[in-house]
Amino acid sequence: MSEKLIDGVAIGKEIRSEIKKNVSALIEKGCTPGLAVILVGDNPASRTYVKNKQKSSAEVGIKSELIELPMTVSQQTLLDHIIQLNNDTSIHGILVQLPLPKQIDENIIIQSIDPEKDVDGFHPINVGKMIIGQDSFLSCTPYGIIKLLERTGTEMSGKHAVIVGRSNIVGKPMGQLLLQRDATVTYCHSKTKNLSTLTKQADILIVAIGRANYITDEHVKEGAVVIDVGMNRDANGKLCGDVDFSKAIEKASAITPVPGGVGPMTITMLLKNTLHSAKKYYAQGSCK
Ligand code: NDP
Repeated sequence: MSEKLIDGVAIGKEIRSEIKKNVSALIEKGCTPGLAVILVGDNPASRTYVKNKQKSSAEVGIKSELIELPMTVSQQTLLDHIIQLNNDTSIHGILVQLPLPKQIDENIIIQSIDPEKDVDGFHPINVGKMIIGQDSFLSCTPYGIIKLLERTGTEMSGKHAVIVGRSNIVGKPMGQLLLQRDATVTYCHSKTKNLSTLTKQADILIVAIGRANYITDEHVKEGAVVIDVGMNRDANGKLCGDVDFSKAIEKASAITPVPGGVGPMTITMLLKNTLHSAKKYYAQGSCK
């Protein structure tokens, strides 16, 4: 493996083995962390994500419960399930797999999850707390990227981080987490002019746009650390990132592959958030 590669599989495994030890210790004290996953409809990608989340939960000893609802489910029925899980003392994390069908308002659903169980970190209360630096659930993908940077010894303080993409679940929280680590942050998006002029200034370049192989060596400064969040299919149906890996690696000092970079870290952070939540409930004396 190239020494430039940031190996999300290995780092994820390392963190999951730490989580597993902590989960075992908590179970010994009588508290089994519980994660509820709600899957609406039959989107094959969503089904695969959910399956992987359940498998990874089981591997570290977290009990997971899957609630499957039909594509035609009403918003009220979905809300009723969430309310029930909010009140279930054996559940410490609730995750609603996105996207949701058209008849359901995603914002209403996210806001109905108890912020204390919002292990995806999407609830406005958690987003707000994250921005002002209070203890909160952090959105799993940016949190996982911070762990990748930390564990590879990447200096963030004083570095220029350029983030391409400003979604609520990746780009925006990513910038905030880097700001908290004293990076200077630039956000780019679809209306940004002269994208490569900005990305070429990046010491740390993070790309989350959902466009196959869009970022090439022309966007990358010599020696930059490149994090590719994208998960796309190329013309041959092969999984690929937003960064043209074979070109960007020529300039980067370190780079994440797709698959095997950010993806495994996202699931790992979901498990970490669920453990964190169960520990908090245990400390309050309310973990079954
Ligand atoms: P969204 O579609 O929600 O957001 C995409 C962002 O990219 C938008 O802010 C958009 O700008 C910006 N953008 C689109 N085209 C360009 C362009 N040509 N130049 C600059 N900016 C552009 O995507 P997500 O953030 O949800 O996901 C991004 C990618 O990451 C996807 O491939 C997704 O599958 C992947 N992903 C991977 C995860 C993992 O665990 N590995 C987890 C989550 C996502 P604007 O706001 O102006 O429209």
